[in-house]
Amino acid sequence: MKGALRIGRVAGIDLYLHWTFGLLIAGIFAFYVLHGAGVQAALAGVLLVLVVFGCVVLHELGHALMARRFGVPTRDITLYPIGGVARLQRIPEDPVQEFWIAVAGPAVNLLIATVLALVLWGIGGRFEPDALVQPRLHFLTSLMWINLLLVGFNMLPAFPMDGGRVLRALLALRMNYVRATQIAASVGQGMAVLFGLIGLVTFNPILLFIALFVYVGAQQEAQQAMLRSLTQGIPVRQAMMTRFQVLYPDDSLGRAVEALLAGAEHDFPVVEDGQVIGVLTRKALLHALAREGRTGKVRDAMQPCQPIEATAMLEEAFLQMQASGCEALPVVHNGQLVGLLTLENVGELMMIATALRQAEAGRLHVPRILS
Ligand SMILES: [Zn+2]
Repeated sequence: MKGALRIGRVAGIDLYLHWTFGLLIAGIFAFYVLHGAGVQAALAGVLLVLVVFGCVVLHELGHALMARRFGVPTRDITLYPIGGVARLQRIPEDPVQEFWIAVAGPAVNLLIATVLALVLWGIGGRFEPDALVQPRLHFLTSLMWINLLLVGFNMLPAFPMDGGRVLRALLALRMNYVRATQIAASVGQGMAVLFGLIGLVTFNPILLFIALFVYVGAQQEAQQAMLRSLTQGIPVRQAMMTRFQVLYPDDSLGRAVEALLAGAEHDFPVVEDGQVIGVLTRKALLHALAREGRTGKVRDAMQPCQPIEATAMLEEAFLQMQASGCEALPVVHNGQLVGLLTLENVGELMMIATALRQAEAGRLHVPRILS
């Protein structure tokens, strides 16, 4: 995980803190001090943020543990200033499973808020939301309201929020997955535009930032679903590159650079004793060059990527790419290296498939609009 600090391990899942998180803490401290609140109040504000992020971790664990119940492992959980991200190894296509995984996060915050409300009721504390301005005096009240806000914000029916997934899952019970994703993504983007407008009118930069975040997230989700549907039923051999050059682990990086400059390919399978042992991508090559120069070895720069069978389906290849972090996969058939599958190839294949589908859809949609 780049730019992130590993801070621990919960329920077998690594927990990372992104470096920008430090900016948030410094920002919160400065905010209180600049508003003349004094150092003590500033420290209380920072403590509140830290405890809130503890709640965010519990939220992400809610997703992760529910996913585990459905046999989906979580790669890691990373905390960013805008919230946490639990990277599930895959998103289940069964809408019922996706529904439960999506609601499990906000359910945790609702539970925390309920417990806090009971405690406040027990000790005769305050419930008014204006307590948020004075976290030092009304810590538990502030924490309760923030957890309720987290529930509300996350349940907005907009990708990439949990509510967007809930909406998609509910729609997917009645229609196909891609259509459901497109509708949920459109709702998300509509909402993002609305946020953006409100942000502009009220000069609220945070709202503008959220609008952008939601808009981009919705678009990505729609694209992924589209990609998934377009690649359904296409075997790897149809999308792989068949003309490629191989490298050997003891080749120098200088030799790899020559291969890169000589041809159109960016990624090279690495072969040892007739067996594929990994892939050297252009990105990895450039990184290694910057580190070790031309005399470095391919062995130290390559990624150990498991090969995929030529007869396997593209969906399986994507899952493998996602799970392993390999952007290119060597393709084998009967134990022999026969090709290389890169996202670029697949992208090209998709462009062709989309163009063909649009041509087809154009013909099919006209009578339906008229009728
Ligand atoms: Zn969530």
